[in-house]
Amino acid sequence: MLNNKPRDILIVGAGIAGLLAATDLQAAGFQPLIVDKGRGVGGRLATRRIGAASFDHGAQFITARTPRFAALLQSWRNQGLLTEWYRSPEDEHIRWRGVPTITALPKYLSQGLAVHLERKLIALQPENSAWRAHFEHGESISARAVLLTAPVPQSLAVLETGQVTLAPSIHTALQAIEYEPCLAVMAVLKGQSNLAAPGFVRPTDGNIAWLADNYIKGVSAVPAITLHATPAFSRAHWDDDRQETGKKLLQEATAWLGSEVAEFQVHGWRYARPINNDFPPALIVSQKPMLLLAGDAFGGARVEGAALSGWAAAELLGQHLTR
Ligand SMILES: Cc1cc2nc3c(=O)[nH]c(=O)nc-3n(C[C@H](O)[C@H](O)[C@H](O)COP(=O)(O)OP(=O)(O)OC[C@H]3O[C@@H](n4cnc5c(N)ncnc54)[C@H](O)[C@@H]3O)c2cc1C
Repeated sequence: MLNNKPRDILIVGAGIAGLLAATDLQAAGFQPLIVDKGRGVGGRLATRRIGAASFDHGAQFITARTPRFAALLQSWRNQGLLTEWYRSPEDEHIRWRGVPTITALPKYLSQGLAVHLERKLIALQPENSAWRAHFEHGESISARAVLLTAPVPQSLAVLETGQVTLAPSIHTALQAIEYEPCLAVMAVLKGQSNLAAPGFVRPTDGNIAWLADNYIKGVSAVPAITLHATPAFSRAHWDDDRQETGKKLLQEATAWLGSEVAEFQVHGWRYARPINNDFPPALIVSQKPMLLLAGDAFGGARVEGAALSGWAAAELLGQHLTR
């Protein structure tokens, strides 16, 4: 149960943006509370297990283009949480993978933070000079400041349910943010795949955008394929039977699979990647009471972008709350 003592800062979302924002705020002396609707931390940094197989089925790797994020990756590497997966001939950025899987990183970050899982925020309402956050199943808490890091359509939904009015220009711009969907197939193979080290292919035509063998990658004990459909295919087949769609995609992948599929599951990422982001890395949408939006739609459509956004939000919140 969430106790209902008033909080300084409520952070919605235990993805990389929310976790890094909370880490900075806690280091600055605040006591942020994180809630997430999921059963685990990480959001789109996600791993699924099927028997002995492990699949990174959201983000596949992490790259760094900025000094602060590069330093963070280096510290994770030194702690054995991250290792180099491969270097691409396309650019100089190392592709890093989590050890043992990508969720090692959010799990590590969440240690020492107050995180409440399976708490879905359904509405946010101003109350005196704070926010009242209402969760599924009737719980509610009050917070002086709130940071929403969910994909923007999900954040807008909780504001609409709470009848929070945003400045019309900001509301229109936020509503215009679109996301690519992604249907992800996770298939356990009966034998080795046909992929060569480092264990991925990025087809240039057809319905498959990405296919990786988590065994060759080093995150699975047995051959285990993560297949990401293209945004166009994912959009067109979003409402179709997921098992049939999975079969169709695996059929298309036969030449790369090289072995029979023992079993598979399909996951739909409705908000896989934001397409159009002209926003600052963190957006203040209300000063009194303080409400900010952050996440990859603001900092850039990658793990690093979400991280930079979380840090920017923490800085703004820290300045506001110490004023
Ligand atoms: C298929 C796929 C492949 C990708 N590949 C890569 C890659 O290879 N490299 C890369 O850098 N990036 C990749 N990305 C993008 C990267 O994963 C994201 O940019 C980043 O993880 C986003 O982090 P975030 O914290 O902004 O959001 P999220 O990780 O989405 O976190 C938001 C959190 O908010 C929670 N939430 C939502 N609504 C509510 C609510 N109402 N109440 C409570 N909690 C709520 C969610 O459960 C979630 O945990 C990929 C993404 C996908 C989906």
